[in-house]
Order: sequence, then C-alpha cells, then structure tokens
Amino acid sequence: MAGITTSTTGRIPFIAGNWKMNLDHLQAIAFVQKLAWSLKDARHDFAATEVAVFPPFTDLRSVQTLISADDLELKFGAQDVSEHESGAYTGEISAAFLKALDTPYVIIGHSERRTLHSESDEQVAAKVSAALKHGVVPVICVGETADDLELHGPSAVPVAQLRAALAQAPDAKDIVVAYEPVWAIGSGKAATPEQAEQVAAQLRIVIAEVLGQDVADATRVLYGGSVKSSNIAGFMRQPNVDGALVGGASLDIAEFASIAQFLKHVGV
Ligand code: PEP
Repeated sequence: MAGITTSTTGRIPFIAGNWKMNLDHLQAIAFVQKLAWSLKDARHDFAATEVAVFPPFTDLRSVQTLISADDLELKFGAQDVSEHESGAYTGEISAAFLKALDTPYVIIGHSERRTLHSESDEQVAAKVSAALKHGVVPVICVGETADDLELHGPSAVPVAQLRAALAQAPDAKDIVVAYEPVWAIGSGKAATPEQAEQVAAQLRIVIAEVLGQDVADATRVLYGGSVKSSNIAGFMRQPNVDGALVGGASLDIAEFASIAQFLKHVGV
C-alpha cells in the first residue's frame, strides 16, 4: 500500500473530476456547493487527499468565485488551454486568462482532444509550456488505444507521448501526469490496478530522465479510465499511482465524494 498516503511517498493523493461538456454555470454552482457539503459531512481531510473539479470554461468564473467566497478547500481546473499567448485565435482561451482566474490546474492532451480535435504531440507540448509559463499546473494526459496496446504493448505509446509533452518544458517542476488508456475511458472497462501501476512506473522513469529524480519523486501520476468508488482502492494501493482522473463518475456527487474518500475503501 506504498502509494496510498503522503507519509509513504511525500505525494498528496489527487482525485480530479473531468466534467467534460456537462453542467452549465448555474448547475456548476449547485454541484460544487453540494459536493463541498458531502465532503464536509464525511469529514474529508483535504490536506490528506486533494480534490479538484474540471468544469467547462463558461463555469470557471462561477466556480472560482464560489470557492473563494465560501473558503472551500476544493480546487478546480480547466479542461484545455491554447498554446498561443494572445491574438487572432477565435474560440481559444489563453493560459494568462486561466491564471487571471487563479485557476490552479489545466488538463492538457486529453484523448478526446487528441482524437476529436486532432491535437498533435507538438501542440500538447506547446500547451504544457504555455501553462507552465503562466503558473498553471498542467495535468498531462497520455494513453494508448486498444490497437496501440495490441501492437506496441501497454507503455510504449504513453511513454512516447509524455516525452513529447515535456519536450518544451525541460525545467518543469510542478506537473501532474494522468495515464488514461483510451480503451478504458467511458467504456466501463477499467485497466487492472497492475496494468495502471506498470505504466505509471514507466512514466515516472521518463519524468526522472527528463526533469530529474526529485521532480519524478514529487510528481503525482494519476490513473484514469472508468474509475468508480468500487475500484478506486485497487488503484490507490499501487505505489506509483497517486490518484485518479475521473470522467463519468465525477458527475455523480455521492459517487465522486466516495471516490475522494478512497481511504475508507482501503481501510487505512
Ligand atoms: C476521462 O475522460 O478522463 C475519463 C477518465 O472518463 P471515465 O472516467 O468516464 O472513463
């Protein structure tokens, strides 16, 4: 159970909910209020497990204002960011704008961006660089498709994607990496904890090679793909898995709160 608590790794477990294109800003306010109450009721220790929501762009201001006004310990992040600084990029949101909203995190390179929006490894790297430049912590998503898995095995593609994502960030110190096998996202068919651990360990080696051992030791590596309250414990028992990026289950307040309370499932 080496990966499960900060005391064993020095890394604070991180449970992150990717809402994707769900919940408008009014729904987001009600959701975050209820989530905060649920976690308070459960006496959630935010110092022991960090919890963040990743709403759509139009919700960010409302979520930020609520968190700040009510002094909530929940964190939040954006689901994407532009690689550009400013200018004629219709529809894009810059890292500077996210920083102006005190946005702590941004998801970069989610498989839905890579496949549905043809985002390249180079674009992912430029976005990582833009986020870091403005002090927004990138949650860098990597993962193989079912075909990749059959052709190259489990870690080759995520490892290559992470190397590419860090190519423009040789001095990065504060990043989060999410291993999300594409075949596990939204499929109800999660990877096994052992599969997640195998790839997470390889990703940590890449971080050590590119950014140094200290950064590798401090970086949270998350697993994502059909995470639920019933399977979170298995992932959190792995020494190199420091949390979860949760899609579908993050839209159910009781379920997401229960995932955040993973220590209750593993009996620590
Ligand atoms: C995701 O989209 O990041 C994700 C992990 O989705 P789900 O939990 O629904 O598989």
